[in-house]
Amino acid sequence: MEFNLVGLPGGTAAASQHVKVLILGSGPAGLAAALYTARANLEPLVLTGMALGGQVSLTYVVENYPGFPEGVGGQQLVESFQKQAERFGARVEYDTASEVDLSSRPFRVKTYNGEYQAETLIVATGATPVHLDIPGEQELTGRGVSYCATCDGWFFKGKDVVVVGGGDSALEESIFLTHHARSVTIIHRRDSLRAGAILQKRAFDEPKIHFIWDTVATDILGEEAVRAVRLKNVKTGQVHEHPTDGIFIFIGHQPNTQLFAGQLEMDAHTYIKTDVTMHTSVPGVFVAGEAGDPHYRQVITSAGMGAAAGMQAIRFLEEHS
Ligand code: NAP
Repeated sequence: MEFNLVGLPGGTAAASQHVKVLILGSGPAGLAAALYTARANLEPLVLTGMALGGQVSLTYVVENYPGFPEGVGGQQLVESFQKQAERFGARVEYDTASEVDLSSRPFRVKTYNGEYQAETLIVATGATPVHLDIPGEQELTGRGVSYCATCDGWFFKGKDVVVVGGGDSALEESIFLTHHARSVTIIHRRDSLRAGAILQKRAFDEPKIHFIWDTVATDILGEEAVRAVRLKNVKTGQVHEHPTDGIFIFIGHQPNTQLFAGQLEMDAHTYIKTDVTMHTSVPGVFVAGEAGDPHYRQVITSAGMGAAAGMQAIRFLEEHS
């Protein structure tokens, strides 16, 4: 494995900061791990990744996190997590890991802004929305193609939009989009939804939401901006153009684990392998949240995994120092 700490003979450097607990990712998992390890006086360092809070910070309202009977804004929830962890001594830096070397402890992590040596590492790097990979998608991203209704819904006030997907995200985001759009048409590749019953009922009851079943999007059309999407009925093979001002794609997520390829064991879908104790295949490296969770992917479960990973890091340091 190549890990070139520039100008660091013997692998140590004046510029390299030594930390007991390094947490990669600042979503619910990373910030919960920070809270627990901070309260054990381990002064954890959280590297935020590209955006503080990860996916939940883009969520308009979280209605299923216990303790908030009226729901809570995703951004607000993340800020509360951060404040709470910082109150006990956690540090949060706006930085992203670019290389890791887990071959020996302390683990070495290179970032855009610096280098770290970490006694323990908690991987809470989350997941990224999956793309359809169809013509027009990449070219028109930001010009009508979106993966975040909370971010972009506002631009579609009074317009007609399409949502692709049949899971919880597709329905939740479609319901959100009805606050702005004139109509929301959900394109789903089967004739029944994957989403939970409550969201299904809400979507079916919403007069602005319509469904096109057994159908996939094959092309996104438009020059300066999206003007239509080409659809194909998977049962009849029939193809038609559906005019739309925007297309929101919610077809699942890909774990952000490329950085650890060849160093941590992963499953066939590149989720980092773990058990209920959050250990990975490398002692001293723990995983929490969506990077290691193909099953639940909820704010509450990610935060729970973060707490568990933090507790395991505390135990590990007690046993190894
Ligand atoms: P998901 O549950 O994996 O659903 C993905 C949807 O996209 C499925 O309906 C799938 O169709 C469809 N799909 C996948 N690939 C496709 C393709 N290439 N073309 C067309 N359609 C495609 O993903 P998610 O909705 O993002 O949810 C992820 C996790 O987060 C889930 O565990 C979910 O429960 C959770 N979540 C929970 C909430 C909440 O509780 N409030 C909100 C959002 C997400 P098929 O059904 O045919 O496979």
